[in-house]
Amino acid sequence: MGYKFYFAAGSQDLYGNECLDHVREHAEAMVKALNASGNLPFELVFRPTLLTSEGIFRFFSEANDDDECAGTIVWMHTFSPAKAWIKGLMAARKPILHLHTQFNEALPFSSIDMDFMNENQSAHGDREFGFMMTRLGIPREVVVGHWSHKDVQDRIAGWMQTAIGVIASGKVRVCRLADNMRDVADTEGDKVETAIKFGWTVDAWPANEVVKYVDAVSAKEIGNLTDEYYSEYKILLEGRDEKEFRRHVEVQAGIEIGFERFLSERGYNAVVTHFGDLGGLKQLPGLAIQRLMEKGYGFGAEGDWKTAALVRVMKEMTGNKGTSFFEDYTYHLVPGSEAVLEAHMLEVCPTVADGDISIKVCPLSMGSREDPARLVYTCRTGKAIAVSMVDMGGRLRLIINDVECLPVPEAMPKLPVATAYWKPMPDLIRGAEAWILAGGGHHTSFSYNLSSHQMKAWAEAMGIEALVIDSSLDIDDFKDKMRWNEIYYRR
Ligand code: MN
Repeated sequence: MGYKFYFAAGSQDLYGNECLDHVREHAEAMVKALNASGNLPFELVFRPTLLTSEGIFRFFSEANDDDECAGTIVWMHTFSPAKAWIKGLMAARKPILHLHTQFNEALPFSSIDMDFMNENQSAHGDREFGFMMTRLGIPREVVVGHWSHKDVQDRIAGWMQTAIGVIASGKVRVCRLADNMRDVADTEGDKVETAIKFGWTVDAWPANEVVKYVDAVSAKEIGNLTDEYYSEYKILLEGRDEKEFRRHVEVQAGIEIGFERFLSERGYNAVVTHFGDLGGLKQLPGLAIQRLMEKGYGFGAEGDWKTAALVRVMKEMTGNKGTSFFEDYTYHLVPGSEAVLEAHMLEVCPTVADGDISIKVCPLSMGSREDPARLVYTCRTGKAIAVSMVDMGGRLRLIINDVECLPVPEAMPKLPVATAYWKPMPDLIRGAEAWILAGGGHHTSFSYNLSSHQMKAWAEAMGIEALVIDSSLDIDDFKDKMRWNEIYYRR
């Protein structure tokens, strides 16, 4: 959907019409320039200056009712008495950014007079407004600085992604094939709580209901999609018979088409599988799930619906760029170069790939199906985040770790899966210690295109706890934070 954001300045009529004309001109010029900057991923919609309680209430109500509006940006150009904002702010249901800026960058020292002071008093008015937001306990992003500055525009752009995450969250619909993997704990959770907090729909289906759709895919459709795979990806036979190899790939093509048909007919945008409960499927969905993730579907393995929903939210926030499901697998513990190798049995999203993508067909050591076809590649290097949501019993906690993806020191020719190799911040030793103390799970929602700040702001907007593990980590402080949160988030 083409989301947009409402922008309005707050003021009052104390300084006369000439002043209000200037307020309007300034706000309009600001919106025009911000839209023209090319730095914002979504359009700002200029709205008339807000002066009265009724007008402010109408502004937020219209934002609530407009499906395309993902949030509001407000700025107090002059002094805007904040009691007039109470009714509107209490009704506001979409994310709010408070832009603390002013029209002029420099003070006009030689010409400044009281008229100028009265007209341009954001420093004053934005404090009055900020007090009311804080008094009402409304989460919001406060961005300070001149509106023409790149860093200010970048922060607005980053918040827009967070706001999209808030809006998109209410539209997440997860289709689960079967239940969680037996005996596993960290992928469990309270689906009523996630419906209340995030608006997530999480439905279970018997695997064979979906298998019916896979079985109904025609040979022609399978042939066409397999041809597409063969033209798009490198084929790594590795000694396997060419025809037998293609037959294995065709099974995944049937799964991709059948699954997508089942999901789209029912409005699902995320999916969960379980290798131990595949019904009549001939293979664990590998390549098929990788392709569905690439199309924007959320995914979690072994029944992990929380991660599937979170991957979907993060894909919406990033415009489906550089975001995938992952699992912490195995460590390199050589002093000075500690890192963790990330992968899964098969299901890593190609939006994180660097370079060529190949198809391999290899045995799976788990489950009881034939050798699945999968896409293999290595991931890009660079900064990213890994996120886990766990259910603490009565409440949800988000754990966000800044990570740095590194090149693997040596090739891993025997590994038939897509991998990432990263150093958690501040380093593997302390990062993993904090992650484990926080109860972070073994599956993560991963993205190159989001920051820990954005995810923390998302959690704040959703009303859940978030713990960030970054370069500033101090384990003792981190433990204290968890103790305090234990009390703050208890209901
Ligand atoms: Mn797993």
